[in-house]
Amino acid sequence: MVKPFVPQLVYFEPRALEYPLGKRLKDKFENMGLEIRETTSHNQVRNLPGDNDFQKYRNAKSTLVVGVRKTLKFDTSKPSAEYAIPFATGCMGHCHYCYLQTTMGSKPYIRTYVNTDEIFDAADKYMKERAPEITRFEASCTSDIVGIDHLTHSLKQAIEYFGKSQHGLLRFVTKFAHVDHLLDAEHNGRTRFRFSINADYVIKYFEPGTSRLPERIEAAVKIAEAGYPLGFIIAPIYLHEGWKTGYGEMLEKLEEALPAFAKKDLTFELIQHRFTQPAKRVIQKNYPMTKLELDESKRKWKWGRYGIGKYVYTNEEQEDMKDTIGGYIDRLFPEARIEYFT
Ligand code: SF4
Repeated sequence: MVKPFVPQLVYFEPRALEYPLGKRLKDKFENMGLEIRETTSHNQVRNLPGDNDFQKYRNAKSTLVVGVRKTLKFDTSKPSAEYAIPFATGCMGHCHYCYLQTTMGSKPYIRTYVNTDEIFDAADKYMKERAPEITRFEASCTSDIVGIDHLTHSLKQAIEYFGKSQHGLLRFVTKFAHVDHLLDAEHNGRTRFRFSINADYVIKYFEPGTSRLPERIEAAVKIAEAGYPLGFIIAPIYLHEGWKTGYGEMLEKLEEALPAFAKKDLTFELIQHRFTQPAKRVIQKNYPMTKLELDESKRKWKWGRYGIGKYVYTNEEQEDMKDTIGGYIDRLFPEARIEYFT
């Protein structure tokens, strides 16, 4: 069982202490006896312990930087939401395929932002711009936000903020089961709480440092019982020997565990595995022993964002995934909605 994340080292940017959450976190981490350092900016976080890049990478993933979010312009976040809302970046998980490896470059430490009210004010402007249409905000584009929230509670604040909003909805996804502090949040049904799930093979070989499937399912049941709209992202869908059985068993376990009422308003998002060439280089550097199949010749090339091509499965394989997994979902969860396959 994966324990809730505790950083080995915490850095504070001085401005973070001007905010109530920054002060609270400083007290909290001091009481926990953690090693605390000050830094003028997260870019100055240097001298992370470790003799080589490999060790430094691992140590960075257990380092937390408490800072202030300067850019309050939100990125778009298609297809799951209109905007990405930034509360944190980085993640303590070690999923081999994780896209953060390329986006975070050589600084994979975790950052949490304490100027939550400023972030909410920015969200409010985006909502006003689109009102009366609903605006959806995705909180897990740059981190696994649930995985650190037992320490910061900034996600809990966000859930309650959107709980009171008229035109906003919040959503996020996690591979962590540490959700107890979120069960009593006043969400008012305006947060869709999603869990990322996968076949046993994928979790076992490619998702070290995250909660296992039974723990995620157990947490999902708690979340459903707390009245949250619930969803599952099956990602990355990865072809491996026995994948049809693997994904079938995963969905059967889920069907067995979820209470009947939770199956009525359930969403699924299906995302096939993909990689880019820069990602492949980073993955092979950070996880040299990985079994992850990254052979361009077996894949179909597709234009990606910023002109960087990505390698997805062939059309036939994609159809097979959609039919197989979509078929299981239709059979086991007839009232659920598949939001997209990409
Ligand atoms: Fe990346 Fe999510 Fe795994 Fe964290 S849990 S390493 S964000 S894929």
